[in-house]
Amino acid sequence: MELVAPIVSEVQRRGDDAVREFTKKFDKLDLSQIVVDPNALPAPVMDDAVRESFDVAYDNIRKFHIAQAREELIVSPMDGIECRRVSRPIERVGLYVPGGTAVLPSTALMLGVPAQLAGCTEIVLATPPHTDGSICPEVLYAAQKCGVTKILKAGGAQAIAAMAFGTDSCPKVDKICGPGNQFVTAAKMMLQNSGEASVAIDMPAGPSEQLCIADSTSNPSFVVSDLLSQAEHGVDSQVVCVALDGFDKDVFAEELKVQVEALPRKEFVEVALSKSIFLRVRNLEEAVRFTNLYAPEHLVIAVDDPEVYVEKVINAGSIFLGHYTPESVGDYASGTNHSLPTYGYARMYGGVSLDTFVKYITIQKLTPEGLLNVGPHVETMAAVEELHAHKNAVTIRLSHLQQS
Ligand code: NAD
Repeated sequence: MELVAPIVSEVQRRGDDAVREFTKKFDKLDLSQIVVDPNALPAPVMDDAVRESFDVAYDNIRKFHIAQAREELIVSPMDGIECRRVSRPIERVGLYVPGGTAVLPSTALMLGVPAQLAGCTEIVLATPPHTDGSICPEVLYAAQKCGVTKILKAGGAQAIAAMAFGTDSCPKVDKICGPGNQFVTAAKMMLQNSGEASVAIDMPAGPSEQLCIADSTSNPSFVVSDLLSQAEHGVDSQVVCVALDGFDKDVFAEELKVQVEALPRKEFVEVALSKSIFLRVRNLEEAVRFTNLYAPEHLVIAVDDPEVYVEKVINAGSIFLGHYTPESVGDYASGTNHSLPTYGYARMYGGVSLDTFVKYITIQKLTPEGLLNVGPHVETMAAVEELHAHKNAVTIRLSHLQQS
């Protein structure tokens, strides 16, 4: 927070100039134009195979998220009273697509698809550009496919602040969504409390985590491969193996050594593993108790009968069951969202969904009969609170009804 506060206030004060300066400082890039319209750019050049995979992911994410749309709710709690709830899009949203140590075009789909389905009208996507100032072709492809209206070529706290306050070239948004490193997450958390910024966030979605429950039925190579898929995100990632009887620590450690050696991002993995945990538990209850306390972003239950755990899990971002559900399928293409709460925030937040991009408006209509039914109770309650104007708004109408 201390590192991020001066960045946020500089962007608030000096807008585009400050964003340019921080981009130069942290991303080593001097840009004159920091906001572009993706629809004015030519379609990116991509391999057919890459395009096809992104199309499959887009379709699966779309199918899972379109099914989350809720029908209008209409309830009559008393005769003559009708209460409704309708959903409306959050009009202006900001999507943060990480691009520091690795570019994550998959995140552009995870945020862009639900924003598009919700009907958001201004969709600003912020992402750190390549060192030559260009945007990753796959991010651009996803942006064009999801109806993104502006791309802000900036990362970190400066990008979050630019979207929160708005600058000459970057539109102000009402909600900022998406994962990022510590700087991104700290800026989001700080700005959601700023009266001046007046912006909401989806959740604190910081450095990735995974907790894997393994027992005698687990395949150690599979378990290790899953844990490493999150450890490779960055030095601040953390993974946890919760081992029941029959899951051999020595075999696990040997497999870990072999797989780590083969990874190009070994440097990140080794630091992340130095802060990771292998925890021995005595039974299923202990495994679940620790899991609920830790509240992992990703929970892999790599056992023969994972369903017995599922009903006991209260705190987790996303759960992966059995031996053939690698966590990385959820990161890319199975259809669920990969933008998830970290650092214990799965205790009170869910991951990104269609709901992230909408808000609900309640509507009510009373007939004279409805007011006669509920009005006297409202008068009594308003009298208890000594809010006489509240009471009078009912009394005046009830008198009118009694006279007519
Ligand atoms: P990023 O885009 O989040 O951050 C890069 C930016 O950080 C840079 O543009 C730079 O401006 C800023 N920065 C770098 N060093 C700085 C410093 N010293 N001071 C101020 N700002 C600085 O990309 P990243 O760094 O690769 O991190 C991506 C993160 O997203 C990883 O931690 C990963 O685990 C996480 N992630 C989380 C989820 C989730 O759902 N929770 C999903 C995917 C990725």
